[in-house]
Amino acid sequence: MISLKACRNCRFITDQAKCPRCGGEVSRECQGYLVVIDPDKSEIARKMGIHASGRYALRVK
Ligand SMILES: [Zn+2]
Repeated sequence: MISLKACRNCRFITDQAKCPRCGGEVSRECQGYLVVIDPDKSEIARKMGIHASGRYALRVK
């Protein structure tokens, strides 16, 4: 697992101190990794409420 951070709000993975997508707080304690290329065709993305392509953590503490 790469030491990246994930947004507590939208789970977007970033290496920045704040989420570049929603400005939310980021956490280092994230598990799993999901790449969403086409959110409309991805069942997992839909279940997780992801509406934009990108990299996301499956779980954020
Ligand atoms: Zn966010």
